[in-house]
Amino acid sequence: MSAKILDGKWVRDQIFGELAPRVARLAAAKRPPGLAVVLVGNDPASEIYVRGKIKACGDLGIYSEKITPPASISTEDLLGIIEGLNQRNEIDGILVQVPLPKQVDTRRVLVSIHPQKDVDGFHPFNVGSLVANIPGPRACTPAGIIEMLRRYEIPIARKNAVVVGRSDIVGKPVALLLLHESATVTICHSKTSNLPEECRRADILVAAIGKPAFIKGDFIKPGATVIDVGQNRGADGKGLVGDVDPEAMRERSGAYTPVPGGVGPLTIAMLMNNTVNSAERRLCSA
Ligand code: NDP
Repeated sequence: MSAKILDGKWVRDQIFGELAPRVARLAAAKRPPGLAVVLVGNDPASEIYVRGKIKACGDLGIYSEKITPPASISTEDLLGIIEGLNQRNEIDGILVQVPLPKQVDTRRVLVSIHPQKDVDGFHPFNVGSLVANIPGPRACTPAGIIEMLRRYEIPIARKNAVVVGRSDIVGKPVALLLLHESATVTICHSKTSNLPEECRRADILVAAIGKPAFIKGDFIKPGATVIDVGQNRGADGKGLVGDVDPEAMRERSGAYTPVPGGVGPLTIAMLMNNTVNSAERRLCSA
């Protein structure tokens, strides 16, 4: 039997379909949700990501604002911009596109975003909520992965989930979300001693490594669900290559997310979801 493709665009369209009436209701009753995106400098990849986020806002009727300080900005000046956005009532979400230039203290900048407006879910306050399984904005890519599994009715409880990668933005939060869904979770990283063996125990394998086609066929338990988070540039500098060997994934898995078109579209969908949630919280408690 051939593996099922988990289509991120299909899930994104479902999520957008659910968000649109919520945005319209807010706009009619008070005002549309508002998202501020801070894009420092001219990193081409960041520019593409930000364009996608602003376009999604437009499609949904969310007010968006792009702030583009120069690459030479100091930490203090960037903190000043964030403070201004924290104070503005019509802004429900603040997103600072990373990576930031070397002279900027990224941690200080991300922590300066008011936790209520932290639509990326990176603020330590919201990370604490995630750990304690208290409602709050969740990191977008990990939340998108759970949405994908849910909407394709792939059971998580009682399953062995293996996450390869322990970054703060993907590996750790997705491991915690899977744990909260009652999977038995293993987190692997570059010092894991027998990675193929660990991976082969996975009913759900999440690859968030950043190395093209690193996960080979013998890492995949036949019939497993494979979530490929990797977004690596192809050898020719063009196109996107995942962290999992695509042919092996097609042949061995029971279901998998393609690259592109799998996890990628869900990151923006969950950012929109966090922005609408934030607007509802702020406007309904105002
Ligand atoms: P990081 O570089 O922050 O983390 C990579 C992780 O992979 C680290 O924990 C590292 O381990 C682990 N790793 C590296 N080499 C190995 C190895 N040989 N064996 C086992 N583990 C290894 O990456 P991110 O988490 O930020 O991103 C991962 C991938 O996901 C990237 O391709 C990125 O582009 C993509 N991504 C996609 C998104 C989307 O679809 N929207 C959003 C965010 C990321 P250690 O900690 O020991 O160094």
